[in-house]
Amino acid sequence: MKTTSLSCSSLFIFLVILSCSSWPAQSHGHHDFLRCLSLHLQNNTEISSIVYTPNNPSYLSILRSSIRNQRFTSASNPRPHVIVTPMHESQIPAIVLCAKENGMQIRTRSGGHDYEGLSYRSKVPYVVLDLVNLSEITIDVEQKTAWVQAGAIIGKLYYKISQTSRTLAFPAGACPTVGVGGLFSGGGYGPMLRKFGLVADNIVDARLIDVEGRILDRKSMGEDLFWAIRGGGGASFGIITAWKLNLVTVPATLTIFSISRTLEQNATELVHRWQYIAPNLPDDLLILISIGPVNSSTGEKTIQASFGSLFLGGVDTLLQVLEQRFPELGVKREDCVEVSWIQSALFFGGYSIKESPQVLTSRNPQIRSTLPIIRFYFKAKLDYVQEPISVSGFEGNLYKIQQLAYWDESGAEASGTSISWVRKLYSYMTPYVSKSPRAAYINYRDLDLGVNKEGNTSYAQASIWGLKYFKNNFKKLVRVKTTIDPSNFFRNEQSIPLRYSK
Ligand SMILES: Cc1cc2nc3c(=O)[nH]c(=O)nc-3n(C[C@H](O)[C@H](O)[C@H](O)COP(=O)(O)OP(=O)(O)OC[C@H]3O[C@@H](n4cnc5c(N)ncnc54)[C@H](O)[C@@H]3O)c2cc1C
Repeated sequence: MKTTSLSCSSLFIFLVILSCSSWPAQSHGHHDFLRCLSLHLQNNTEISSIVYTPNNPSYLSILRSSIRNQRFTSASNPRPHVIVTPMHESQIPAIVLCAKENGMQIRTRSGGHDYEGLSYRSKVPYVVLDLVNLSEITIDVEQKTAWVQAGAIIGKLYYKISQTSRTLAFPAGACPTVGVGGLFSGGGYGPMLRKFGLVADNIVDARLIDVEGRILDRKSMGEDLFWAIRGGGGASFGIITAWKLNLVTVPATLTIFSISRTLEQNATELVHRWQYIAPNLPDDLLILISIGPVNSSTGEKTIQASFGSLFLGGVDTLLQVLEQRFPELGVKREDCVEVSWIQSALFFGGYSIKESPQVLTSRNPQIRSTLPIIRFYFKAKLDYVQEPISVSGFEGNLYKIQQLAYWDESGAEASGTSISWVRKLYSYMTPYVSKSPRAAYINYRDLDLGVNKEGNTSYAQASIWGLKYFKNNFKKLVRVKTTIDPSNFFRNEQSIPLRYSK
């Protein structure tokens, strides 16, 4: 499902850098849940190895193991009554039924990258269902398909595929630690989206556990629900346990480059020009831009635009295309490197292409990626730019053209300054971005767009953010939600509401 009707290639990402425990005890209330689990699961050994309550010495480390935004590690954040880390899909129906019976919500966590921490934070009593142990990947090279369990990270998927063939690949996201549970259910895009579309376009089957504890596949869930969980976000509909993917074929040799230009080196004009060129490049070629402050060679602060690129082919062809289409960028042969697909995944994951691809399989790699938002506090917003922004629009105040701020200081002051800066930028961008609705991307969740009341919310209220994330698809998502989860058990601050909720 396309989350919006916008062309993927018109997606314009501003990535600008703003340089700039004791948790509430919640040990009550979970005893009945545990009692219920012990009745439904086979034996107590099984339960003790997958259940963590606040009294368990590993509770905190398990909870924090997949918190990707440091904003949500502080003492003021709520903690779950229980964390459950099932070893098998067959254990999940009992967890759903026991949570339901005991008035607890479920927060399902795969990779933990939710921008607002909704996979492990809730104001009401809740269980974190952490799928970390469900990360098996099976690849059928002949059929060019793969089954991947929802707790796997995309880096592990990439690595496994690369072990079977140099020319098989999958077009998912850039950051290797992102979970397939969240990324895929929100639509998902990555460096090969121009050629192969969204992740959602390449999913051919799925397994989901519904509110009744039934384990459904594509056939038994039906096409509407299968559509909804590929772009509508998984959390509103149930627990996805696995995806079946169509793998794609790529050339044995791809080419990457990354070059940077500061304001003094014509960055503003290049970014302006890029808006006209990038959407019309051949599908084999993606050029992304990230913009951030740097120190110039004279030590002055300036702004730098970095152009990062992936070309599904060799360097000779790439240089010909760039010479014809974007000569102003001045890319030279020595800026380019020919790589395998898995090396391109290292590059976009923030690693040296000389690194062992195995580094992609780690949830907490010892070798640090240069991608900053895995390590820091951050707040992000996303806009779709449908019409190119004028040079004067950029020059209006280039320092403030940013959609993401990250910072490395804890405390309310640092976060307050950074978050308010992002909000100001969002306001500044208003005239230049999509309107009616001002579109957003569910995978870049932003609670500033609006939140449900604790519990249920009205259709009208949820439309405020629902239409921004899903445009006209919102109505169909509501219909599917009402059919599959009529009691609205699977809910969070921005979940899909029921059809008739007031
Ligand atoms: C560093 C970083 C890089 C990113 N790069 C990209 C990118 O290249 N492309 C892109 O499209 N997005 C990207 N994102 C956004 C990312 O797709 C979303 O944050 C996504 O939701 C993360 O999935 P997760 O499993 O890691 O997160 P989680 O926090 O585990 O889950 C996110 C949401 O999905 C729900 N969920 C998770 N698993 C399941 C499941 N099995 N069943 C039902 N519901 C589930 C959670 O409850 C939560 O609501 C990036 C985010 C970060 C922080």
